[in-house]
Amino acid sequence: MLIDSFNRVHDYLRISLTDTCNLRCTYCDPADFEEHHFSRTRMTAEEIDTIAGLFVQQGIKKIRITGGEPLIRKDAKEIVRRLAKYPVTLALTTNGVFVHEHIDTFKEVGLRSVNVSLDSLKKETFLAIAKRNEFERVYANIRLLLQENFHVKVNMVVMNGVNTNEICDFIEWTKDAPVHIRFIEFMPFPGNRWDEEKVFSYVQILGAIAERYSFEKLPDDKNDTSKKYHVPGHHGTFAVISTMTEPFCSTCNRLRLTTDGKMRNCLFSKTETDLLTPLRNGMDILPLIKQCVYDKFEMLGGNTTQFWAIEETTSHRRSMMGIGG
Ligand code: SAM
Repeated sequence: MLIDSFNRVHDYLRISLTDTCNLRCTYCDPADFEEHHFSRTRMTAEEIDTIAGLFVQQGIKKIRITGGEPLIRKDAKEIVRRLAKYPVTLALTTNGVFVHEHIDTFKEVGLRSVNVSLDSLKKETFLAIAKRNEFERVYANIRLLLQENFHVKVNMVVMNGVNTNEICDFIEWTKDAPVHIRFIEFMPFPGNRWDEEKVFSYVQILGAIAERYSFEKLPDDKNDTSKKYHVPGHHGTFAVISTMTEPFCSTCNRLRLTTDGKMRNCLFSKTETDLLTPLRNGMDILPLIKQCVYDKFEMLGGNTTQFWAIEETTSHRRSMMGIGG
């Protein structure tokens, strides 16, 4: 088992297939995309399979495929198939643009849980945030997933003054559709134009919803990062991910693997462990994996101050796109 020095058992691995994306969401993308340092090295499908297999042997029970945009990778289907053979719950986070091209593979291998990012239900606002005119394709693909009975969570990054006026429109969507909306507090990453004024907190989100709906708390699972609710009578649910105002480190069970094969024990980690180079050199990487887990800090990657005030001094401070969200 992968246990850290605070006795947290880690059974959830997030694997990033790429650090690039076909959208340019303002909150995710480094300010100057062209200057973004893309990884020159990338794990092959076989290397992802090998490393994932080692993690599974150590008790990983859930693997999420993410990115950048995982579905832009030419061998995405092969990777999905390879990971599906492990006795894990396999899930995917995507911007939704290419879901229709992959949905048959998901069905074939039993990948039933898909998180899709969608920050606005208005075409113009979507374009202003994502810088690409893909609203219709994303929305159609979410409906396709729902029609095909996938478990669909829609991730909406809430930014004050940008899309806060749509919070209740997303709640209205849950009335007839079995869709699970997750409102995410806006987090800072190098170059993502984060500003404290743009954070719309968990409490503010619930306040905005309470103006139009009465809602109830749903029980959260042990390792949930979100706080779940529903409006009685609605088919879908909603949740808030309060990383900024109420972090949830004490129950964290997550580990991350970047596309260039670096292991991170926290989203906000200032260090990372290279697994790919030693693997390519024929070394046993299991001791490195165990050490990385053991070294995990109690909170927020060891950032002792408010973590958004941290200087972006080390090369390991990657953008969200570079880490794998
Ligand atoms: N391309 C995929 C997608 O669009 O979902 C997967 C990668 S994306 C980095 C994963 C998740 O991170 C998305 O739901 C996105 O909204 C979220 N995210 C990215 N930057 C964020 C930020 N600054 N604050 C909060 N959430 C963020």
